[in-house]
Amino acid sequence: MKDVVALGELLIDFAPVSTDESGYPTLKAQPGGAPGNFLAALTKYGCSTALLGKVGEDAFGNLLVNTLDTLGISTKGIVKDPSVFTTLAFVTLDATGNREFSFARKPGADTCLRPEELDLSLLDDCKVFHFGTLSLTGEPARSATRAAVAYAKEHGKLISFDPNLRKPLWPNDEAAREQIEWGLHQSDIVKISDEEIEFLWGISPEEGAQKLLKEYGVRLVYATLGPKGCHVANANGCCEVPSPTGIHVIDTTGAGDIFGGSAMSQFLRLNKAPETLTVEELRAVTRFACCAASLSTQTHGGITSVVPEDQVRAIL
Ligand code: ATP
Repeated sequence: MKDVVALGELLIDFAPVSTDESGYPTLKAQPGGAPGNFLAALTKYGCSTALLGKVGEDAFGNLLVNTLDTLGISTKGIVKDPSVFTTLAFVTLDATGNREFSFARKPGADTCLRPEELDLSLLDDCKVFHFGTLSLTGEPARSATRAAVAYAKEHGKLISFDPNLRKPLWPNDEAAREQIEWGLHQSDIVKISDEEIEFLWGISPEEGAQKLLKEYGVRLVYATLGPKGCHVANANGCCEVPSPTGIHVIDTTGAGDIFGGSAMSQFLRLNKAPETLTVEELRAVTRFACCAASLSTQTHGGITSVVPEDQVRAIL
C-alpha cells in the first residue's frame, strides 16, 4: 500500500558548485527529476511512495535507483533499459541561485517509457497519482502517462499535477500549452507557479487559481510565487502564505517539487477531501510547504536537499 505513486523523469542534474581560475564551472552530478524530488519530500515527511519511470542500464541509472532505494522510495516500477541512456540535464545558476536547464542526449531514457512497461498494479492501493509534463513532451512516454492517468482515474485515485514547464524540451509554446491544458483538466490537486500561469493565460496567480477551480474542476490549487511564497485556494476560500525570511539561498533546484511533496504530505495527514479543507487548514499545509521548500534552497540539489521535519517545525 503506497500513499502516493508518481510517474515521470528521473535524471542526473549536473550543477555548478564552483569555478576554476579560468572561470569554467566545476559540475557536480546530482540525482534529480521533478517526480523524484516530489516523492523525496513526501517520504521524508512520513508517506510511503513509489515511482514509475525509466533509466538507462548504465552507471547513472544505477546511481538514481540506489538513491531512491536509500531514501525509501519504491523502485519496483522503474524500468532499466539497456538500449537508452539515462537522461542528463545541465544546470546553470545565476547570482540569486535561480537555475536554467539544458538537456543532453535527447531522447533520454525518461521519454522512452512505453505504456506496456508500466506496473499499474502499484496504483491499485495508492491514494494519489502524481504526474508532470516532462513525460508528455514526446512519445512513447506521453502515451504511458495518459494510460497511467486513465487507470488512476478509473480506480478512483486523487490526481495531482505539477506542470513543471521546461520550455527547451518543447517544439514550441503551443505544444506545451496543449499538454499542460490536458493535464490540468485531469487533475484534482494542482501545484502551478506564477510564471506558468502567466505563460498559459497572462493573468495573476490569484486569477489563475480561481480559473482552475471554476473552469477546470480542480479541487485544490497551490499557485507558488517563488521567494514570495504561495497563494492557495479551494472552494472554501483562499489565502497567501509568505516564505520565511532570512533564508540564505544557494540553489533553488527542486524547490517547487519539494513544495508540492511537502504540501501533499500535510494534506494527507488531514485525511479530508481537497475541497473540504478550511482556510486555516489550507494556511497550515501551505506554511509547512513554504518552509520546507525554502529550507531546501540552502543546499545544492533536489532529491537530497529535503530537510528533516523538526527543522521545518523549528521555523514555522
Ligand atoms: P522549480 O520549477 O524550480 O522547482 P517552481 O517554479 O515550481 O520551482 P517556485 O514558485 O519557484 O516553484 O518555488 C516554490 C516554493 O519554493 C516557493 O513557494 C517558496 O516557498 C520556495 N522558494 C522558491 N524560491 C525561493 C527563494 N529564492 N527563497 C526562498 N524560498 C523560495
